[in-house]
Amino acid sequence: MISKKMQNGLNKQLNAELYAAYLYFAISAWFEGENLEGFAAWMKSQALEETSHAMRFYKHILERGGEVELFEVKKPEAKISTPLEAFQAAYEHEKKVTQMINDLVDLAEAEKDNAAIYGLLNWFVSEQIEEEDQTLKVVEKLKMIADSKQGIFMLDRELGARPLPASQTIVNPGSGED
Ligand code: FE
Ligand code: CA
Repeated sequence: MISKKMQNGLNKQLNAELYAAYLYFAISAWFEGENLEGFAAWMKSQALEETSHAMRFYKHILERGGEVELFEVKKPEAKISTPLEAFQAAYEHEKKVTQMINDLVDLAEAEKDNAAIYGLLNWFVSEQIEEEDQTLKVVEKLKMIADSKQGIFMLDRELGARPLPASQTIVNPGSGED
């Protein structure tokens, strides 16, 4: 059984993962408008992956006999006018998510909830290392490229190679690469 405090923390994180999906869908749409389809595809894949993160919380809460509570998802607020700003927004957001996951680990420790720590949050601690690393690498490449149209074109090609997550992975997370 899950404590009320833990349940509330996990429901808030479920919401934060859905907000991340919203943010990345918004950024993806911005890239589409710029005809940067590779960047757009990468962000869309990331948005879908965020929904699979939300589903991990959803599944865990229910498995632990808790109640899933769906809060309102706020409107994404990022103002984007360059690819660099888009990836900086993603990187900044991932740092916030890392802090939220760390806070949840602290809460789970206080609640002595080993199931949450080892059955759920442990995976997210590693995942956040990947998320920060991936977004920061693109930020750094974009800084290197600066205003080179050719550089942007090549990076668009490179990022466009990222496949969309399988729908099974989104609905039933843990069964694929995310
Ligand atoms: Fe996430
Ligand atoms: Ca990931």
